[in-house]
Amino acid sequence: MKSKFVKLKDITKIYKTPGGKTFTAVDNISIDINPGEFVTLLGPSGCGKTTTLRMIAGFEVPSEGDIYIGEEMVNSLTPDKRDTAMVFQSYALFPHLNIFENVAYGLKIKKLPPKAIEEKVKNILALVNLEGLENRAPNQLSGGQQQRVALARALVMEPSVLLFDEPLSNLDAKLRVYMRTEIRRIQKQIGITSVYVTHDQAEAMSMSDRVIIMNKGIIEQVGSPQEIYNKPATEFVADFIGVANMFTSVVKEVGDRYVAIELFDQIFKAKKRKDFNVNDKVKVVIRPEALSLREDEGIKVKVKTSVFMGAYQDYVLKYGEEEIKLTDYNPTNKKVYSEGEDVFLYINENSLHLI
Ligand code: ATP
Repeated sequence: MKSKFVKLKDITKIYKTPGGKTFTAVDNISIDINPGEFVTLLGPSGCGKTTTLRMIAGFEVPSEGDIYIGEEMVNSLTPDKRDTAMVFQSYALFPHLNIFENVAYGLKIKKLPPKAIEEKVKNILALVNLEGLENRAPNQLSGGQQQRVALARALVMEPSVLLFDEPLSNLDAKLRVYMRTEIRRIQKQIGITSVYVTHDQAEAMSMSDRVIIMNKGIIEQVGSPQEIYNKPATEFVADFIGVANMFTSVVKEVGDRYVAIELFDQIFKAKKRKDFNVNDKVKVVIRPEALSLREDEGIKVKVKTSVFMGAYQDYVLKYGEEEIKLTDYNPTNKKVYSEGEDVFLYINENSLHLI
């Protein structure tokens, strides 16, 4: 299957609200998506991710900027002329048509010969693991199967770009996890450029080549799931993705490859990932699972809360007024500390990230 790059250049979307005011939903963003890449737009409700996806599809027109699909500037093209296909949260299947007819619908409109239609529908239904269900009605399928039909119906048109608008939101938790892998398998098999909108960070992390984190109409960070998690560019990203300890500190010393900061009355050297000056205020980000507890080495802290979660023990520790979240995996085979106990906190300098 062909696949194309997608380019958004300086895109802004301003909505007119009923009171005659304007609202900037997307504020001068630029995005480059490579052919065959799976990119997720992730962010809280109202951040502009759906608006961005709908502009790529052609359901919304940008107020400013240009959108390219492959070499073609598509700003003035209607959705049906754009070589994209969208998979919706609601599936949007035709209830009175059976599965075969649902998938064949777009090809019939395009007036393909019946033999070609049959061949294409058969191949796509095999790809999404729905062989044998051709004659069922949509309401005779499970939610997961209906979403596969929706995916098949998009894929059968052989678009160059596949767009997903929160496609798994209506499924139960287990099925959602399963469908993540299924969508990714199918996407990889055909190598189609995909843009996927979600507010579920686990979905974004587990499926994407790159994640675009949006907030209030702007892009906070673009990166692989690992980069976004381990090297958040902003406080918003650190806080939005996973759980983060964030402490305020001051730069004490700047070396070639490290930055020395003071934390819990000790000096730590963190990897220098961008330029800092002495006396700069910084935020120190530490993930709870990167911290560990020791009997006799580190910073003396007090256990404020200690909660058994099965796979891990969740602690909140106190150092003076400062609270520190710590997650200890596989607690069954370790010493577990209780509320009120004194313990030593060990910080590995490699896990310090400065913003
Ligand atoms: P959600 O996850 O809740 O769908 P989102 O990140 O996808 O959020 P958008 O749907 O893109 O956000 O909306 C961004 C902002 O633009 C929101 O504040 C929304 O209220 C506003 N908005 C969206 N569509 C319109 C419209 N047609 N007219 C006016 N404002 C709109």
